Amino acid sequence: LKVNVTLSQHTYDVLIGPDLITRAGSFIAPRVRHKHVVIITNETVAALHLSKLQKSLEETGIRYDILKVPDGEESKSLACYSDTISRLLALGIERNTTILAFGGGVTGDLSGFIAATALRGIPFIQIPTTLLAQVDSSVGGKTGINSPSGKNLIGAFHQPVLVLADNSILSTLPRRQLVAGYAEILKAGVISSMELFEWCEKNGQAMLNGDPSTLAEGVRRACAYKAGVVATDEREQASQNGRALLNLGHTFGHALEAELGYDGRILHGEGVSIGLHLAMALSVQLGYAPASDLARLDSHLRELKMPTSFDWFKEPFSAKTLIAHMQKDKKIHNGKITFILLQGIGKAFTSRDVSIESVEKLLLNEGCLP
Ligand code: NAD
Ligand code: ZN
Repeated sequence: LKVNVTLSQHTYDVLIGPDLITRAGSFIAPRVRHKHVVIITNETVAALHLSKLQKSLEETGIRYDILKVPDGEESKSLACYSDTISRLLALGIERNTTILAFGGGVTGDLSGFIAATALRGIPFIQIPTTLLAQVDSSVGGKTGINSPSGKNLIGAFHQPVLVLADNSILSTLPRRQLVAGYAEILKAGVISSMELFEWCEKNGQAMLNGDPSTLAEGVRRACAYKAGVVATDEREQASQNGRALLNLGHTFGHALEAELGYDGRILHGEGVSIGLHLAMALSVQLGYAPASDLARLDSHLRELKMPTSFDWFKEPFSAKTLIAHMQKDKKIHNGKITFILLQGIGKAFTSRDVSIESVEKLLLNEGCLP
């Protein structure tokens, strides 16, 4: 399966299917000008899957170096960036050396930012190994690291030259990670396509069971959707709709992540899952969306045992604290939070007119403490 991402300056392919990794060399060779690549990965992914990639590169005569970074969100730090880019430059790379980002969204974001900044920009290829990275973070060109002031605050737009999404590689992913990635596929349907939402209702369970052909089709649909949005608004500059719609559920999700931290108590996609519920609930409260669509969304989330309420986390949250996190998000304009609201499933729009009082009312209704 293939999705093409067409942008003003460049276009690239997202190749999707089983066992792509064992043929990686043949896809990569025609796309690199210099037969030297540097693989950036972590111990976990390396132990499970790196040998297949190495073998395939060797078969095609591509020379490679390997740089390992620690597993976990902390590798998206200035310290790890500094250490890794220094090790990269010490290899004596050239402008045509290509980076291979081999791992989940963390590896992809860090490696992409290194590629964007080393020698003022060198090519990079994404080989995403988590469902979240295959359906979301590897496509679209956002790269970056975290700052002590917040997540993803340091970064650059840098598009890959190729994305290789191998669905077989997902067989070693824990179910919780599959659920987190699936939330982003479902999000795409809730934003703009009742047809995709209905596909999710029929196939979500099979995806979470790890069925390879269903996973491939879900990844294809999500990437096709994201490619379309990114093509119309590559750098998230549209004042309305455009790329901003991809943040559906994220204002809430990011607030929860900021509150719980990035050490695994909540996964990004779990925040998105409850965020989808909250965005729809807020839209119903404000009279934009019918309550029946909230019931339909919740019933799907519950059927797949995905988070829909604060109870899921077994600890109380304070509405004031969560709102304070939202007000620190980088998508604030003139002090106003941009919310993505819904007129119903498949009909999202951006709004800067949501009052803090309405958000507070929602959070209290949903069981938060004041
Ligand atoms: P992650 O990269 O930390 O991967 C999750 C865990 O799974 C890690 O422990 C990893 O080592 C392990 N893993 C990876 N592949 C595996 C495999 N095949 N089998 C078994 N284990 C495997 O997390 P993630 O959810 O992939 O990505 C989250 C990051 O992505 C966040 O930092 C987020 O900010 C970023 N993100 C970026 C964008 C973007 O547009 N750039 C979009 C969404 C999210
Ligand atoms: Zn997301």
